[in-house]
Amino acid sequence: MKKLGLTGRILIGMIAGGILGFVLNPFNVDGSWVNFFLIDGVFRVVGEFFVTSLMMLVVPLVFFSLVVGTCSLSDPSSLGRLGGKAIGLYLFTTAIAISIALSVAALIVKPGNNVGLERPGTGSFDASEAPSFVDVLVDMVPRNPIDAMAEGNMLQIIVFALLFGIAMALAGKPGERLKSVFDDVNEIIMKLVMLLMHVAPYGVFALMARVFGDLAGGELLQGLAKYFVTVLGLLLFHGFIVYPTLLSLMARMNPFTFIRKMGGNQVFAFSISSSNATIPVTLKTVKQRLGVDNSVASFTVPLGATINMDGTAIMQGVATVFIAQIYGIPLEFTDYLMVVATATLASVGTAGVPGVGLIMLAMVLNQVGLPVEGIALIIGVDRLLDMTRTAVNITGDAMVTTVIGKSEGKLDETVYNDPEAGLNVQSSNNS
Ligand code: ASP
Repeated sequence: MKKLGLTGRILIGMIAGGILGFVLNPFNVDGSWVNFFLIDGVFRVVGEFFVTSLMMLVVPLVFFSLVVGTCSLSDPSSLGRLGGKAIGLYLFTTAIAISIALSVAALIVKPGNNVGLERPGTGSFDASEAPSFVDVLVDMVPRNPIDAMAEGNMLQIIVFALLFGIAMALAGKPGERLKSVFDDVNEIIMKLVMLLMHVAPYGVFALMARVFGDLAGGELLQGLAKYFVTVLGLLLFHGFIVYPTLLSLMARMNPFTFIRKMGGNQVFAFSISSSNATIPVTLKTVKQRLGVDNSVASFTVPLGATINMDGTAIMQGVATVFIAQIYGIPLEFTDYLMVVATATLASVGTAGVPGVGLIMLAMVLNQVGLPVEGIALIIGVDRLLDMTRTAVNITGDAMVTTVIGKSEGKLDETVYNDPEAGLNVQSSNNS
């Protein structure tokens, strides 16, 4: 039973929460006891408490581990190489994701062809402006690093931490002194992550009970089912086939080990729907379970959680085709290329928080002249897809991190191949 470990308990929390939510679903009407005390009461408090506690750790964890990571890179020029590889691979996997999604949706499934939904008269979806790619670039350097941290602006924090880490490495004695302090802070924050993981089964239970208690089942049964199933199928395909294949091709590592070790991490991402909030867990997984050194992982994981959203791109590809088909608007080949480019670049500028993929979708639709109101059609089924694509997003971050770790000689293969690696720390703390 002890072996069940944290992942098993989180999984049980997730399934039990989902079942309870499902059972409560019919009773969850406005003003009811179930709604007031359970769905919007206990489950909301426990769930949000859990997510907020994880979010609380993201900024300090990213900052300290990235500074320490940069500082311990023996050769500063490797930073440019690392950055180049990371950005290149992240864009590459996103482009693959959206290309597969577009091809399957447009050529094989054609989800919107016979749906026969009418175009909504007035747009009930208010699309916020998505930032343009140039804005993202210009915005990368923080005017005020404290401000960047207060706002949780990940790209700005990354830039500041990289510069700080480089300066620390160059500063000689003062740099060394500060590094040992930062090392300790880093350890302590990781300890905090671990403590939080112990209450994770309850947090996940509450989150799932709320999601399933709130789901409008009817919406799933309508014509959107085909869209839903297509996105879901492609997400699973990407997570369980494309990534492991890329991993074994590029890093020659056992893909099954990767799949097995990512399970707990995926459950986390799935239940909290946010790559960003999952950063502490992803970092822990890639370092302690997959054996990637902190000098690589501390950089590539937060970067990936910020700029790499393959699952989101998949949803956008299918959604674009779906909306175009519903409204009977033909898409040319150049439109498809435009969608690939826009969705790939859009994923760079968007934070990994719940539901943000729909905002990015507005940008993609605009780009190819499709009605943005189309988004209103798919909002109803987006919650579960958001959860699943977040799990795919962080799997991509971990896969790319492992590939880069291997290519940089920063992957401990004994840890990677040891099924128990990273678990001992947890069980020794269980007692
Ligand atoms: N929730 C996703 C994530 O955090 C982003 C999205 O909405 O697609 O990765």
